[in-house]
Amino acid sequence: MLLNVILGLVLAYLVSIISLKLKYITFDGAVTVFLLASVIFVFGELKWSVPILAFFVPSSILSKLKSEKSAELSNKFEKNSVRDSFQVLANGGIGGILVLLNYFSPDKIWYLVYLTFLGTVSADTWGTEIGTLTKRKTYNILTFRKCEQGISGGISTIGTVGAFLGGVVVVLFSSPWLNTYPAFLIFVLIILGFIGSFIDSILGGTIQAKYKCSKCGEISERNHHCGVPATLFSGFKWMNNDLVNFSSGIISSIFLVIILGIWN
Ligand SMILES: [Zn+2]
Repeated sequence: MLLNVILGLVLAYLVSIISLKLKYITFDGAVTVFLLASVIFVFGELKWSVPILAFFVPSSILSKLKSEKSAELSNKFEKNSVRDSFQVLANGGIGGILVLLNYFSPDKIWYLVYLTFLGTVSADTWGTEIGTLTKRKTYNILTFRKCEQGISGGISTIGTVGAFLGGVVVVLFSSPWLNTYPAFLIFVLIILGFIGSFIDSILGGTIQAKYKCSKCGEISERNHHCGVPATLFSGFKWMNNDLVNFSSGIISSIFLVIILGIWN
């Protein structure tokens, strides 16, 4: 146990310091990553650590790639590619709670919810980053009208493929701990990550706050644009991108619980 604690803390320290050095996260984001990773690595060991790293590492690299390729697009997003602590908590906070629940009250369900949640946020990140890496035709998920690339609620073919792969990667890296489960469950986990990313796009296209710049008129997720405050154009002011990600992870987790309930 003592060795696990020391190894967990060392690994958590390494992940946060490397992410900070590579500018994947802000300083407060790095502190949050350290605390969260410590809990998951120490209490969850490899079984819980590998899947969250399979989400965190490629997602961070993809976000960084995009910001280097298109500074113009990132101007539309609420946040730039550097993750802050809110974003870390929205994507991984629930993982910290689940690993503790499983440690003190072991049940198979915690791990499956964990993978569903991670699959969803990973699918969403891959979809967004791959979908905006190059210039692509983008359509609104609800109206199927052409829309500007980089706007929440916009989907493209390449982004959809990216989202699918983002969900698969989490399941793939957790496969050593899933081999006692039937193939149907693996299929459900992959599909739920994929569906979760669509839920994310729907929420992003409807209730997420979007702002109109009072100077240039551009619609974006930023409440400041061209150096001046932008006015709310659609959605709710409090519904930001972090909350949309978190909600879609929760919704796909609820789907999982329902499916497991029907199946058993
Ligand atoms: Zn502007």
